[in-house]
Amino acid sequence: MSETEREPLRLMAVHAHPDDESSKGAATTARYAAEGVEVLVVTCTGGERGDILNPSYVVPEGHEFDSLEGRNAVRREEMARSAAALGVRHRWLGFVDSGLPEGDPLPPLPEGCFALVPLEEASEPLVRLVREFRPHVMTTYDPSGGYPHPDHIKCHEVSAEAFAAAGDPARYPGAGDPWEPMKLYYNHGFSMESLRAVHEAMEGAGLESPFGDWIESRAAREIPEREVTTYVPVSDYFSRRDDALRAHASQIDPDGFFFAVPRDIEAEVWPWDEYELAESNIPLPARAAGEHEDDLFVGVREALGARSGAGDDGREHAEVNA
Ligand SMILES: [Zn+2]
Repeated sequence: MSETEREPLRLMAVHAHPDDESSKGAATTARYAAEGVEVLVVTCTGGERGDILNPSYVVPEGHEFDSLEGRNAVRREEMARSAAALGVRHRWLGFVDSGLPEGDPLPPLPEGCFALVPLEEASEPLVRLVREFRPHVMTTYDPSGGYPHPDHIKCHEVSAEAFAAAGDPARYPGAGDPWEPMKLYYNHGFSMESLRAVHEAMEGAGLESPFGDWIESRAAREIPEREVTTYVPVSDYFSRRDDALRAHASQIDPDGFFFAVPRDIEAEVWPWDEYELAESNIPLPARAAGEHEDDLFVGVREALGARSGAGDDGREHAEVNA
């Protein structure tokens, strides 16, 4: 790379299971990839304990869904199709799905599952991957997991650990050369504000909203809403997101919840993916109260421009090292 070539922007999106990348921030990854940003989706587990959630799903010829190995194979193929639909690169961390424990009392987690792996051991492969891929921006879930699946909480923990440790040569010394990512975000799909906006627009159009009961039950439980700092406009990439969702044929019902809102209504009233800026290692422009970012690379473009001695936004020279 010559001195005049700009360093490409790199985004790493860390997820717990195959299909999470298509339901949380999917259109964002598709958009940045289309704009020349290098995007790597990382999936912590193989999703081996997911049940078939699509009533019209038929297990493909030559596959079975009755063993962890069989499910792993099915979900690998689905994940490859999803990554292709989004136009992103993809890597597995190779941990085993913990499953969602149900019952009272809750059953113990299965031996060897991701949620039971000690934090340093669980984080090491992600630290290694951060040092190899060298993302400027990482996304993950908030500390609650966004939804209380043990793998989602663990996904948060290993992402926060890797974000904090990857730049420190004293940490994980056998896992590659240090690299400090600049910003860490939490995905926030389905905020109450977004649900209400879509709900009201659907009712206004005389359509049945899929969100009424959900809004009521969430309001009744008084779950505190997390802050949204960043709205990335992504409506041009809804179709890519939808293709990625449908790629997870064993998990996503094409006639179900995710497809219940007409896309023209969604594009009109909620054309964004929402994020919370959790950590930043770079100076950021001051934001007035009520002002939001519209780009995950705010401050990053400027920092890289300063580093390379140039002033423009760095997108033109992004290159993909597939
Ligand atoms: Zn998941």
